[in-house]
Amino acid sequence: MKLRTKIQLFASLFMLLILLLVNTSIYFLFYRIAAEGELDQLSTQSNALVETLADSELVSDELLNAYLPADGMIRVIGENGLKVPVKTRATEYESLPGEFSTTESQEIVEHNNIPTAVIAKPVIWNDGEVVTVQVSNQLVHLRETMTTLFYVLAAATVIMLVPTVIAAAVLSRFLLRPIQKLIQAMKENTGQGKWEKIDLENRSRDELYEMEKTFNEMIDQLQENFSKQERFVSDASHELKTPISIVKSYAQLLERRGTDNPKLVKESVEAIDTESDRMKKLVEQMLALAKNKQAQKMEKFDLAELGEETASTFQGAYPTRDIRFEANKESLPVTGSRDQLEQVLYILLDNALKYTSENVDLRISNEDGQAVVRVRDYGKGIPETEQARIFERFYRIDKARSRDTGGTGLGLAIAASIAEGHGGRLAVESEEGAGATFILRLPLEGF
Ligand code: ADP
Repeated sequence: MKLRTKIQLFASLFMLLILLLVNTSIYFLFYRIAAEGELDQLSTQSNALVETLADSELVSDELLNAYLPADGMIRVIGENGLKVPVKTRATEYESLPGEFSTTESQEIVEHNNIPTAVIAKPVIWNDGEVVTVQVSNQLVHLRETMTTLFYVLAAATVIMLVPTVIAAAVLSRFLLRPIQKLIQAMKENTGQGKWEKIDLENRSRDELYEMEKTFNEMIDQLQENFSKQERFVSDASHELKTPISIVKSYAQLLERRGTDNPKLVKESVEAIDTESDRMKKLVEQMLALAKNKQAQKMEKFDLAELGEETASTFQGAYPTRDIRFEANKESLPVTGSRDQLEQVLYILLDNALKYTSENVDLRISNEDGQAVVRVRDYGKGIPETEQARIFERFYRIDKARSRDTGGTGLGLAIAASIAEGHGGRLAVESEEGAGATFILRLPLEGF
């Protein structure tokens, strides 16, 4: 069943139920009040009759006539049957059941399908015998009034249902239009590979607007991710193409002239080895980038200790360079992936040593609730125009030079993505000729 039909059906049925409930209550309440009023009136009339009968020696026809209700009957019932002939306005009333009783009663009964008020009272007859005086009156007007009330309430129910049905139709239309637009946009996007968004102009800022806005944001994000992925695949294949073609040309060279030229064999094997290493590194780094997106094991560890360890490892590998380590706190506990943060330190120190020939400083400090890692070198620095771009995947400032140093252009992209994964940020401050400082900021709590 369609959502629109559901909304309309629910609203209409709910309203119908409420109307039926209210109108039925009104109907029966009115009937009760009116019937009790009639019964009270007949009771007063009967009391007057009973008082008169008790006072009079002789019960005349005129006396009973004076108290006879407009649509009713008076019966005096003794223990052995009627005391006087039934006084009635019409003979059909006589079929109303009546019997001798010494207790008082008053009730509304259905007689010939018409509500009838019946009062029965015991009285001492002029011969000393106890008799029952039964006074009844057919409530013809009440019946007519109730029939009219029934039709009025039925008509009111129908009349009140009409605006409900219209309101439900308008509401469902209002609610469903944006949803239908959304479904259509989704169908077009999936069917035709489009990045269609929803027009949000002149829309009131309600929940449906929020839903459409979120959808548009999601499309933007998907589109961005898609083009990032496309760029990544084309950059990666481009980067792999060079070493592959180098390996292939050396292999062909070996095939043609390798057997009688040992010098060429040595040179080719060395080149193939270097290029294979390069490809291996590229593939490893690409895998690292993909892995960074996955959830990592978080642990509490001392960042100052990790920094000191990394600095001394690099010092061992570069004995001619001075790698100075400094921490403003003896220990700096942080929560995060130790392996990943170690990888960031490796990337930054490796770059500083690779791209400069001077000393390198590694400083770790606690600043305004943040753990801050600074890797400073004293090389030629990074031009301002390149500072934002070096964090892009496969971006290298000096392509030829960084190929010689074995750079893939992925290191800083990996480091930045790890920093973001930890709720932090990686930035660079540099002046050309005065070296560069890479700054990693991590929140101390909650990553
Ligand atoms: P790569 O694998 O090429 O080193 P990175 O992403 O680590 O890739 O670095 C991107 C580029 O940023 C490098 O090619 C290099 O030109 C530049 N770069 C990185 N670190 C430094 C540094 N400390 N000094 C000067 N240039 C640097």
